Amino acid sequence: MNHPVARLPGHPHIARKDGVLQIEGQSLSELAQAHGTPLFVYSKQWMLDALAAYQRGFEGRDALVCYAIKANSSLGVLRVFAEAGCGFDIVSGGELARVLAAGADPVKVIFSGVGKTRAEMRQALAAGIGCFNVESEAELEVLNAVALEEGGRAAVSIRINPNVDPKTHPYISTGLKGNKFGVAHDRAVAIYRHAASLQGLQVVGIDCHIGSQITDASPYLEALERVLDLVEAIEAAGVPLHHLDFGGGLGIDYNGDTPPAADALWQQLLARLDARGFGRRRLIVEPGRSLVGNAGVCVTEVLYLKPGEEKNFCIVDAAMNDLPRPAMYQAFHQIVPLAERQGQATTYDVVGPVCESGDWIGRDRVLQVAPGDRLAVLSAGAYCMAMASNYNTRGRAAEVLVSGTQATLIRRRETIEDQLRSEQPCA
Ligand SMILES: *Cc1c(COP(=O)(O)O)cnc(C)c1O
Repeated sequence: MNHPVARLPGHPHIARKDGVLQIEGQSLSELAQAHGTPLFVYSKQWMLDALAAYQRGFEGRDALVCYAIKANSSLGVLRVFAEAGCGFDIVSGGELARVLAAGADPVKVIFSGVGKTRAEMRQALAAGIGCFNVESEAELEVLNAVALEEGGRAAVSIRINPNVDPKTHPYISTGLKGNKFGVAHDRAVAIYRHAASLQGLQVVGIDCHIGSQITDASPYLEALERVLDLVEAIEAAGVPLHHLDFGGGLGIDYNGDTPPAADALWQQLLARLDARGFGRRRLIVEPGRSLVGNAGVCVTEVLYLKPGEEKNFCIVDAAMNDLPRPAMYQAFHQIVPLAERQGQATTYDVVGPVCESGDWIGRDRVLQVAPGDRLAVLSAGAYCMAMASNYNTRGRAAEVLVSGTQATLIRRRETIEDQLRSEQPCA
């Protein structure tokens, strides 16, 4: 090769050196040898660089980045963001326990989600979280009642559905009228007035979140104008708002996608906030995917090659239970061999061992592979491990966090004993 180190486009922390694929300079083959496959490997530097783009965008502003942990809630990942001073956006009592275990400052925790239970509300009040992002009028009443029972006041923001099309996959659009999230734009002022009258609540902000894997600035700009129109109307009705939360949703490069960089996007949004006189408000964002998505790869081993009349199959040891995004959203992940080999390239469907035709990882991929070779499935840092299941009684994969010369096993491979522990046959 002319260039012994070749960086992968869109993946600056991944490079091929002397024919071997590396992450932050560490050999993925050696990590797979040490920990087995399927194996998730994350670059800490990529996460910190992604966070830094937001921090640059908000330089000199009163802003808080709350990492939306549903994208990847592994403790080792949460610790990286807690140490970097991030807040967290959570959607369950389980996620609250995770961020506290990772060392989060509870005041920087916001609690989103359409179906919070009373028990989760009590748990979050006891922990002293910063804010509940309330998603319906019914939830407002229940939260008020729970807070009064507990003898406290719950800080609330109400999630507005701005009815903006984020132009992404329908399953990850959340800010359209037909979605289950948030309260309708035209009910907002009345709901805020009512919320401000409830003794168990303290209204502190407003929020929206319009979808995920957004690759264009225009839906954000549209949502921003609508939210600011509402802020003006709500404040004119006598309810002051302390913070403005614009949610998450910024996309990443999976397959030549070109989302705006977080700092460039926020430069645009802040210009509009300044122009409308809201530039000095406290700002919150809730990015998930864009902080972890391209930090991670999933290393998998080729088990069998199965030529066919219509399709050739490359059967690997990772499956839809490890990498659910293709089955769920027809999502595309790049698939790259760890070591290059010479010979004839063949077009394969890369599939897992799970007994479902939906268990595919990549379709029509041109690969030069043989059984025993390892492949890296790229862009596997977000919505992969966090969605992993035990379907087909497969144990969940191990996870390694790489930082410079260090590689830390942040989750050991799940064993069959782990899976059977909570079950028993009837007597
Ligand atoms: C999922 C979610 C996020 C994060 O979305 P990403 O697309 O991963 O950035 C933020 N806020 C809320 C309320 C969410 O549900």
